[in-house]
Amino acid sequence: MSNLEAAEPVVPCGRSGALGPCLELIAAREASIGPGQGVLRALPRRARRMVGPWCFLDRFDASRLGRPPAMDVPPHPHIGLQTVTWLFGGEVLHRDSLGSSQRIRPGELNLMTAGRGIAHSEESSGAGAAALGGLQLWTALPGGEAGVAPLFDHHGDLPRWTAGGAEAIVLMGQSGGAVSPARTFSPVVGAEIRLRSQRAAIPLDPSFEHAIYVVEGSLTIEGARVAPDVLAYLGLGRGEIEVAGDAGAIAFLLGGEPFPEEILMWWNFVARTDAEMDSARRDWAAGARFGTVGGYPGRRLEAPPYSPHPRAAPR
Ligand code: MN
Repeated sequence: MSNLEAAEPVVPCGRSGALGPCLELIAAREASIGPGQGVLRALPRRARRMVGPWCFLDRFDASRLGRPPAMDVPPHPHIGLQTVTWLFGGEVLHRDSLGSSQRIRPGELNLMTAGRGIAHSEESSGAGAAALGGLQLWTALPGGEAGVAPLFDHHGDLPRWTAGGAEAIVLMGQSGGAVSPARTFSPVVGAEIRLRSQRAAIPLDPSFEHAIYVVEGSLTIEGARVAPDVLAYLGLGRGEIEVAGDAGAIAFLLGGEPFPEEILMWWNFVARTDAEMDSARRDWAAGARFGTVGGYPGRRLEAPPYSPHPRAAPR
């Protein structure tokens, strides 16, 4: 027996972004967030820099986090973005320069709005380090709000929907009639999706571009098999997407209105100009702007050298 499904046509999305429905599969690549701490990075990729305001997507799990399987990211700064931390297993302790100290567990959202500048540390904590796994995503703040005062939010009770063979937890924006309480800055959606049968229809906003990142199990979308740690970019103009797969498969839906600005990303910063990058780097080196993360047992990270940014290829 042979599987012919993948031979069905797939509508390519084109380098400049699709104005309508399409399908493009992007495998996450290996990256590192520190010594012995491997991750899989699905955004940004050369083939696709952003999906709506989403500009960064890392998958971490115990199998790539060394021995013992642990996350340990010393204090480091961010500007111009929000970090969205979402776990499937284990526990992470977040501390930041606003004085926050917050444990995050599966089903809870840690949302840090960096704005003009914040510093944080991230460590696995509690029992069950062997089960640690999750995603960290970033959204770019629109230029007019990139310099807002930093904020940290923890949401332990998020809205859900169950319909059409799937159930979802809505982290950001709205999906399936459920509206997340999380603070957002541009039209966006982020949701965990679990299949409850072998076929499901996931509601989408036709004015958004979307992607589905497969976490566990595999999905079939428009005839293409989408393996774990592959991002299926879907383009714009869809009111729903039908997926097939194993009951119990887990995926993450991300989307939003196409981001109207070109951004620069370097280290942990999102900005528009080299001058903003250089200024943030100098402020971190000088101990200015970002404050101090209390309680972390170790030294903070130093920024790598900055050299003017090669401009990203047009989207
Ligand atoms: Mn960070």
